[in-house]
Amino acid sequence: MSRYFLQFRILCFLLAGSFSAGAAPAGKWSAKWEPAKLVNGSPVLFRVTAPLQLTELRGSFLGQEFSFRSSKACHCWYGFAGVSLTTKPGTYTLHVDGKGPGEKEATMSYAVTVAAAHYPTSALKVASGFVEPPKETLARIEEDQATKKKVFATTMPEIRWSGSFQPPAEAEVSGVFGSARTFNGVKKSQHTGLDFRVNTGTPIAATNGGTVILARPLYFEGNCVIIDHGQGLLTLYLHLSEFKVKEGDAVEKGQILGLSGGTGRATAPHLHFAVRWRGEYLDPKTLLELHPPAN
Ligand SMILES: [Zn+2]
Repeated sequence: MSRYFLQFRILCFLLAGSFSAGAAPAGKWSAKWEPAKLVNGSPVLFRVTAPLQLTELRGSFLGQEFSFRSSKACHCWYGFAGVSLTTKPGTYTLHVDGKGPGEKEATMSYAVTVAAAHYPTSALKVASGFVEPPKETLARIEEDQATKKKVFATTMPEIRWSGSFQPPAEAEVSGVFGSARTFNGVKKSQHTGLDFRVNTGTPIAATNGGTVILARPLYFEGNCVIIDHGQGLLTLYLHLSEFKVKEGDAVEKGQILGLSGGTGRATAPHLHFAVRWRGEYLDPKTLLELHPPAN
């Protein structure tokens, strides 16, 4: 049995802040990523071209494995990954591992620089019951946590999104991702979503294709819809006044999921839109700005 291996192992280091950050051509391999300047909290779209025809390409980055899809539009492979909020600035390795016909294999590594994000701080005032929930609500909150844990643990291996992610509402942004938040003067958390200023009753659309894995009221989140887009990528839509989908529904990009509202822990009606990947919240604004190729 002969087994033919092609090994390409060149590590290309990029200078932080250099104009060409985000692209690292090396031999016949090439890799690019969006956004070009990665920070903690960024979703990332990798595009790779390989020196031989491949039937499969897998990647690993920051301890997570993910699969690439091939695109005729770009003659490349593209894959989605993320940089957690807690990732320290530094240089990390993207490793790609491809399989071609006749058991050919090809691997490559790229050095990817992650810089520190500068997220703002904001102070909020909400009804005191949501800062220190009354005792009688604790069972409800615990039940919600168990529900979320179960939902977050079960994700589809099949990728259901394609092309760009569209905004869930055509509205002004009223709160950005990553800001440190104090509720009634007490530092509670970092804001892990993107808020859209919408009045109650505004239709909220699916940002891409997927399956509804949660559509029910929760104490803090209010009426909440969660879509599984496959391979650990979820989008969440909070504080809705009304549901237009139910758990188990397959949804297409742009399909109306519900109407906006101010249910749960909300100071006023708005949409809190969040992106979760493999247990980490990522910046939704960056996800909406990615340019995935057509398949
Ligand atoms: Zn929010």
